[in-house]
Amino acid sequence: RLQCRSLMDISRGLPKTASLRLTHKTAPYQRHVSTSTQAPDKQRVVILGSGWAGYAAARTLSPSKTQRVLISPRSHFAFTPLLASTSVGTLEFRAAIEPVRRLGLDEFHQAWASNIDFKNKVIHVEANERGDVSAATNKPQTKGEKFQVKYDKLIIAVGCHSQTFGIQGVQEHAHFLRDVGDARAIRLQILQAFETAGLPTTTDEERRKLLHFVIVGGGPTGIEFAAELHDLMKDDMSRMYPELLKHCMITLYDVAPKVLPMFDSKLAAYATDAFKRQGIRVKTNHNLTGIRREGRHLMLKIKEEPEEVGASLVVWSTGLTQNPLVKQLVDTEIQGLGKLAKDPKTGGIVTNSNLEVQLRPTEGRSETRTLDDVYAIGDCISVQGIRYPATAQVASQQAVYLGKQLNSNKSYKPSKPFAFKNWGVMTYLGGWKAIHQRDADNLKGWAAWVLWRTAYQTKSMSVRNKVMIPVYWLVTWLFGREISRF
Ligand code: FAD
Repeated sequence: RLQCRSLMDISRGLPKTASLRLTHKTAPYQRHVSTSTQAPDKQRVVILGSGWAGYAAARTLSPSKTQRVLISPRSHFAFTPLLASTSVGTLEFRAAIEPVRRLGLDEFHQAWASNIDFKNKVIHVEANERGDVSAATNKPQTKGEKFQVKYDKLIIAVGCHSQTFGIQGVQEHAHFLRDVGDARAIRLQILQAFETAGLPTTTDEERRKLLHFVIVGGGPTGIEFAAELHDLMKDDMSRMYPELLKHCMITLYDVAPKVLPMFDSKLAAYATDAFKRQGIRVKTNHNLTGIRREGRHLMLKIKEEPEEVGASLVVWSTGLTQNPLVKQLVDTEIQGLGKLAKDPKTGGIVTNSNLEVQLRPTEGRSETRTLDDVYAIGDCISVQGIRYPATAQVASQQAVYLGKQLNSNKSYKPSKPFAFKNWGVMTYLGGWKAIHQRDADNLKGWAAWVLWRTAYQTKSMSVRNKVMIPVYWLVTWLFGREISRF
């Protein structure tokens, strides 16, 4: 979890140096970005990604000791634990984001890193001029300008993509909950489904399909989204569309025999019971094998169901797969150095315990080596010998560790290796109930919900959001959720 440094960030003010772009018309990647005027005593640290890892690294790096450059296709940081709340209108979207430009960086490029020349310390970059980011593919809709960015030190923090297992129709028809754009699309889809179901021309059979909301994946994200959706139905839709409520259904499918595998079995059972009482169907040991569109709704093929199931919304949350940049990097030979070390299970970049990127052993040498001046953090890595959970906690702690080490010495000689401090896991279950587990300590019900809300309010990044989040909660409690379609 991140330390709050928002006031310090604000006080850092505007960048001291302007980014100067020099372009000349040769081959696409020959267009280049000059380094912004660089103080000789400052190292130019380039960070790829503005997620939990990249954003926290940029906040931690000292502007007086380093020149901070950030490259990310999105110009904001998304506070992922609050995305489910924003997707149903409990919170406004702006409460879950922080604009990157507020960090007062020396350079920011809204762009994808498409390749890295480790030999010459140059990143090949493609601008994301339309600002589109799809969580599933993360591919630009329109490829923008190409240019190069130089680095002295490089931090790779590009995260992961959503895992679809190549299941037919998932990419096209399911929603992924990875960013505010996804949350907005989900909110619009829910509201559209209610309006369509409310038309006098809609049959009851179609209403049942339109008002069937499906979640695939029983991890914390899937569970929290189901819980927030249930709150929306119970508190707001029941008043707005009382005649439609009898057609509403929320179903959560998971291939595993139980949901929330990271929680102990008593807490997971408590969550399942809470869902049953709220009327949310939890179907474990169920395999979704395909999604197709049929008119105004979707049809889902479930191996264990005799007939296809109709629904208007499928939220997909079944785990992670490697970012394409990472896939490319770990499979490419670096001239004279070999390949990056790759985690055999996740395909992620392997670092040593100081978060330095490792190279695979070469012929005649059995030991791994370190790639100079390149570090990696967050979901896209595994730390040699230890596979940390893919969580914001791990990503931000790694970022803070690395940022502090880079601040303290130019030659990067950490006095101690990275050590993860586990703050526990928690999940919201709806109806002001949650579960929390830390080592052997368990907490459930209302007390866990208070802890859940307090934690996310205090851990949000800026003073603005620390103030706005409780205000939005109060407004929602007093006047209901924001359910306009715009
Ligand atoms: P990300 O946050 O995914 O960031 C990756 C960044 O890299 C993005 O800015 C992306 O645009 C950028 N990028 C991608 N490709 C490129 C490229 N080629 N070049 C440059 N930039 C690129 N964890 C918890 O600990 N607690 C929670 O309660 C919790 N709740 C969650 C709820 C949801 C809905 C989700 C989706 C996740 C949740 N997580 C939670 C997990 C947590 O969000 C992730 O573990 C965390 O985001 C990982 O951080 P990261 O920086 O490695 O990756």
